[in-house]
Amino acid sequence: MKEIIIINDRHFWGGFTSGREGVWTRNTPSDPPTADYIALGIKLGVPLSRMIRPYQAGGCKVAVVGSEHGGAGIIRDNDLKKVDGLVTAEKGIVLSIIAADCVPVYLADEEAGVIGLLHCGWRSAAGDILCNGIRCMEELGASTAGIKMFIGPHICAGCYEVGEDVRSVYSEAFTAEELSSIFYEREGRLYLDLAQALRIKASEEGIMAADIMASDECTCHDKSYYSYRRGDRGRQDLAFLMMR
Ligand SMILES: [Zn+2]
Repeated sequence: MKEIIIINDRHFWGGFTSGREGVWTRNTPSDPPTADYIALGIKLGVPLSRMIRPYQAGGCKVAVVGSEHGGAGIIRDNDLKKVDGLVTAEKGIVLSIIAADCVPVYLADEEAGVIGLLHCGWRSAAGDILCNGIRCMEELGASTAGIKMFIGPHICAGCYEVGEDVRSVYSEAFTAEELSSIFYEREGRLYLDLAQALRIKASEEGIMAADIMASDECTCHDKSYYSYRRGDRGRQDLAFLMMR
């Protein structure tokens, strides 16, 4: 088991954890919450009815949530289907997403009091998820000048071998110069740097490079985490973020 703090100050608390079992998903909406969620709720001192988890689909849809969504996906069913990003302006609400190599992106605007948490797979990292997340935050009063961005643990560029089909999808979204910083080749194999793709997307949105922090931990080669690429199925890591 491994758990790290992404941000923990008087305004925000965000982290990334494998959990004890890496099980965050129930089989049916009437099942009890998983042991990992119960343990996280105790650790954060937040009831599960104040925690939210969407049904992710690797897409670019982001939802603004509040206490009316409390417990969704954790202790009850919810309507946050095919949603890969959550945004809120409510204090004491825990946003959470599962990831097992994909990139968790934490967004926080301290002055506006708005947070967002995004699950970025290779497709959505090249797509609109970051843009959609920022637009949702702006609707709640945030501004790109005030947003700080934290890139959590994910599969690193050294581990993430991809096919040419992935580069061709990225060539629709990035310039040739950008592509050369996102992909690199080693011994005839192609590798993708998801964090670099997200940094470029963030900069296009107006987030300053100095306001982007990134974890250097890799979920694939650090065996304390669950990793899809390494073969874990049905077990994931969890990213969470709340405003105090
Ligand atoms: Zn790695």
